[in-house]
Amino acid sequence: MDLASDRRGSEAIAAGKSPRLATARGPGLGCGVAARKPDLMTSFPIHAGSPVSFPGPPPKAADVVVIGGGVVGVTAALFLARRGLRVVLVEKGRIAGEQSSRNWGWIRQQGRDPDELPIMIESRRLWQQLAAETGEDIGLVEAGVTYLATTERKLAAFEAWLPHARAHGLDTRILDAAATAVLIPGASRRFSGALTTPSDMKAEPWCAVPALARLAAREGVSVIESCAARLIDTAAGRVAGVLTEAGRIAAPAVLVAGGAWSSLLLRAHGIAIPQLSVRSTVAATEPLARVHAGAAADDRIAFRLRRDGGFTLAGAGAQDFYLGPDAVRLASKYLPTLRSEPLSVRPRPAAPHHFPDAWGTRRHWQGDEESPFERMRVLDPAPNPGNIARLARNFADLFPRLGPVRLRTCWAGMIDTMPDVVPIIDHCDRLPGLTIGTGLSGHGFGIGPGVGRVLADLIAGGELGHDLTRFRFGRFSDGSRIRPGPAL
Ligand SMILES: Cc1cc2nc3c(=O)[nH]c(=O)nc-3n(C[C@H](O)[C@H](O)[C@H](O)COP(=O)(O)OP(=O)(O)OC[C@H]3O[C@@H](n4cnc5c(N)ncnc54)[C@H](O)[C@@H]3O)c2cc1C
Repeated sequence: MDLASDRRGSEAIAAGKSPRLATARGPGLGCGVAARKPDLMTSFPIHAGSPVSFPGPPPKAADVVVIGGGVVGVTAALFLARRGLRVVLVEKGRIAGEQSSRNWGWIRQQGRDPDELPIMIESRRLWQQLAAETGEDIGLVEAGVTYLATTERKLAAFEAWLPHARAHGLDTRILDAAATAVLIPGASRRFSGALTTPSDMKAEPWCAVPALARLAAREGVSVIESCAARLIDTAAGRVAGVLTEAGRIAAPAVLVAGGAWSSLLLRAHGIAIPQLSVRSTVAATEPLARVHAGAAADDRIAFRLRRDGGFTLAGAGAQDFYLGPDAVRLASKYLPTLRSEPLSVRPRPAAPHHFPDAWGTRRHWQGDEESPFERMRVLDPAPNPGNIARLARNFADLFPRLGPVRLRTCWAGMIDTMPDVVPIIDHCDRLPGLTIGTGLSGHGFGIGPGVGRVLADLIAGGELGHDLTRFRFGRFSDGSRIRPGPAL
């Protein structure tokens, strides 16, 4: 998914019930160790009230402290432990409580920024390896990703991405209208064609990342939930550890993988990264006829068959962009991307309280004071009712034989993004010992394990295997032109 996709598609609910009907919080995770069967998802599985699986306390010292229990932090911690390092991972809320469980579950090579592709291809392999190593069913399936072209012009834009696929030997191909109708039978729209990559995969995010955290813990990582990193501790101008709400952890190396919160934490140390976040709304349907086994999207709806037989729907309506101090300060850096996708975001005057860029969120605090990270254990934005209202209708319109589409639940997530829609994967030369892995810009679930492995080798001094120039920390301050990737 990229910045634009929320503009695609639709609505909701049979029988006039409210979209938040099914979002009562509570147990019944739909996966994980306990269930082991694809229970129907009736509430969003991970939230601030979810049980703590890793209570801690944190050890007093480590070789590396990883801040953030999303797919990036968890996989980096796992690979660091495999390099023989003592690793502590602190998570202010719940493992995978934010973007890493709320996403669509697409693990795609298709349409990626060419500089990301080598890492993504490695990441796809790692997903298969790690899925087996967890010993859990994370719903990992190679079912393909398909972009449906509603116009010849759109199809031409898809075709323009093909050379990148060829350069890496991907099985991506262009389908004509007839072949598209075979791949997506029963669609009410006649598509000009499609871009499809059969080797792309999908997984159940709220299962996958907690399973990876359990694997990391089994391999020696000290995973601590409900433990916010308040500040990075420094001595003699370099990293000396982390000040958490549960005490200090001495360590010569720290990885900031805080998702939408990374810039707030780094700014408290005078380190600026132009990170913002947007609200993206998603819904899960009840089990439906299997209109397509993989993941696909047109300009009105994005859909992925889930393991419980329902579909994850999204890509409807613009994403919500909350105006805040950072948004105002960084607006000029985002102009190139906004110009290429002007309708992708809908500005809103203010974020809810305690959100990373809310007007009232504190920007400075001491290590012995409550930090903004403790005020918001799990960033759990309410879904946009207007976007929800369009999701089921567009899906039903696209597949009339489904009849009325009933939604089981809906949720939203704050997508962290960078002006050029690719992450920062680099050491921070401003503070020796600090490494940053953040800004995955709406496509980090798929590439997460690959980024995690690269970060681990960046910290452990191992073989990187990839050119990271595009992801360097200094690219926003070294005079380089901001180069947004392909908006596919
Ligand atoms: C609605 C939606 C749909 C998406 N769809 C896709 C998709 O289909 N495919 C895809 O590849 N990507 C998708 N993405 C993007 C993907 O989910 C993210 O890029 C990825 O999960 C980011 O991982 P992360 O580890 O960087 O961040 P996160 O998962 O957000 O994790 C960061 C963690 O850090 C913790 N944290 C922050 N500050 C602190 C602190 N000070 N102390 C302790 N802990 C802290 C947070 O609580 C959080 O749990 C989607 C995202 C959203 C929101």
